[in-house]
Amino acid sequence: MSPFISRFAPSPTGDLHLGHAYSALCAWQAAGASSAYFILRIDDLDFTRCKDEYIERQIEDLKWLGLSWDETPLYQSQNLARYQEALAELKDRALIYPCLLTRSEVRELLSAPQADGSLRNALTEPETEKRLEKGTQPAWRLDMTRIKNITPELTWHDDNYGPQFVDLDKIGDAIIARRDIGTSYHLSVVFDDADSDIEMIVRGRDLLADTAIHRLLQFLFNLPTPRYAHHSLIVDDTGKRLAKRDDARAIRSFREDGFSPTELFDLCVKSKE
Ligand code: GLU
Repeated sequence: MSPFISRFAPSPTGDLHLGHAYSALCAWQAAGASSAYFILRIDDLDFTRCKDEYIERQIEDLKWLGLSWDETPLYQSQNLARYQEALAELKDRALIYPCLLTRSEVRELLSAPQADGSLRNALTEPETEKRLEKGTQPAWRLDMTRIKNITPELTWHDDNYGPQFVDLDKIGDAIIARRDIGTSYHLSVVFDDADSDIEMIVRGRDLLADTAIHRLLQFLFNLPTPRYAHHSLIVDDTGKRLAKRDDARAIRSFREDGFSPTELFDLCVKSKE
C-alpha cells in the first residue's frame, strides 16, 4: 500500500500509555514508516488540563517507539486565530448560537420527556441579559435546525468499520466552542487536519462517533474528507479500557522494565479488546 500523510496528535495531559502507543504505531504504519509522511501535532488546546512538562516526555516516548517526523511538531495553541476565524464564519452564516446554560440545566433539558433537542430558547431574554451582565461567557452550539436545511446526506469511509453515515439528529446542537477555551476539539481538529493535508486519520474507536461532527464541519467549510481508520481500544486484564491515569501502563514504565518497541507493539496487539 502506498503511504498516506498521517498524523499522531496527543494532548499533553499526562504520559502516553499503551493505547497511545498503538495509535501512534498504526498511524506510523499508514505513513509507510516514513518521516516524510508523518506529522506530530501537539493538541494543547485545553489549557485547563495540558502541561508543558508532558510535551517533552511524550516526544521522548514517541522517538523511543521509532517514530520520526521531518517537520517540527505543530501546536494547536499556535493556531487559535484560525479557529476564531472559522467560528466567526459560522456566526455570520447563523449556523451556531450562543448558549449560556449551565451543564446541569442542559442535562435537565435534554432528559425532559419532550426534549426536542433544541436548547436555543431555553432562557428568557431577561435571564439571558442577567447572565451576560454577570460576565458569563457563552458556549457556541450548532444550530442543527438550520444546518439540516442546507446539509445533504453525508458519508465517509472507515477502513475498519466500513461506510459511515452522518446522523444529524444524533449530533444535535453540539458545542463547537467551549466557553473556557473558545474553541473545541471538533472545530480545531478539522482545520488542523485539512491544513496539514492529512490523508489518513488513525485513532481509537472511541472517537468514531465524533467523526460524524468532523464530517459535517468538512462539508460546511468545504474541506476535504480524509480516509479514517478507527482501531479497537487497548484494555486491561479485566477487559476495562485503559484510562490516562493508568500509569502502570505508561510507555515509560515498559521502557524501564526493559521492553523493546517491538515487544510493546506485540503487547498492544494482544491487549486489544
Ligand atoms: N488530541 C486528541 C486525543 O488525544 C486527538 C484525537 C484525534 O486523533 O483526532 O484524543
